[in-house]
Amino acid sequence: MSAQPLAIAYHDGDYRPIEECVVPINLHALQYGTGCFEGIRGYWNADAEKLNLLLLREHFERLHDNARMLLMKSPSVDVMCEIAEELVRQNAPRGNIYLRPVVFKNSIALGPSLRDLPDGYMCYIIPLGDYLDTNRGLEVCVSSWTRISDNSIPTRAKATGGYLNSALAKSEALMNGYDEAIFLNNLGNVSEGSAENIFIVRDGMLITPDKTSDILEGITRRAVIGMAREMGIPIEERSVSRTELYRADELFLVGTGCQISWVKTVDRRVIGDGTRGTITARIQESYETAVYGRDKTRAHWLTPITH
Ligand code: PMP
Repeated sequence: MSAQPLAIAYHDGDYRPIEECVVPINLHALQYGTGCFEGIRGYWNADAEKLNLLLLREHFERLHDNARMLLMKSPSVDVMCEIAEELVRQNAPRGNIYLRPVVFKNSIALGPSLRDLPDGYMCYIIPLGDYLDTNRGLEVCVSSWTRISDNSIPTRAKATGGYLNSALAKSEALMNGYDEAIFLNNLGNVSEGSAENIFIVRDGMLITPDKTSDILEGITRRAVIGMAREMGIPIEERSVSRTELYRADELFLVGTGCQISWVKTVDRRVIGDGTRGTITARIQESYETAVYGRDKTRAHWLTPITH
């Protein structure tokens, strides 16, 4: 997937042409994966000529808290929101985008300690359509790689180094002809996808692995739980066994990148009748209506930028 960034990025305290945003080869964050990041979508509303940033503050609150957990200091949530909005204004995209802010150890010190090292902050934008195909059903597999546990690299930290785990699982899935990988955690329970949270539907109940299943506490996951509650769909957050995936009536992945993507097969076993299920369809359609700014009751999800 090409990810050529837009012309202006934020790096080293200023807005700069992307070519000037460079880091040293001996950077701590590059050597040891000492950073944490976010992915934030912006949806272009052509009728209103507005770019709507989705759940902007929620993402920066997560980044701010994760940085603190990893002994890093990010700019304040307000400042990160302002930088993101200014970057959109300066680049003036007229299509869907993805923002990638990163807090990282901006040092050339040797050794992995995080203590007393300076922190850096960068943010850039790429144009982005679908990350996974949201129209057709995905073919996924249970990964042979285990999800990193909270006591090794906490997945809730969205730490750069932790994504080696995702990289191994995603690569294996693609090499074996699947679209995406589902991780089990070290207890053998379902955790999440390489970059998505997972929901199953069984007997009308929406079920998702709970926050102690070594997942990223996804912002889309939270939004979907909220939507389901409002729709009166019963929801359970609990441990999920591997074979519950095979026995599900419906299964879908959620995340900023993948949005709401329905799954057709798991390990070549067809889910339900192999079509998009009714609860999946309701969630997918409400989500899409909201992110494009067509649902006034969810206007608070969006930060509109006019340029
Ligand atoms: N899990 C992982 C491992 C991810 O990388 C992502 C993408 N950020 C998600 C879940 C979904 O999280 P969110 O809805 O906050 O994008």
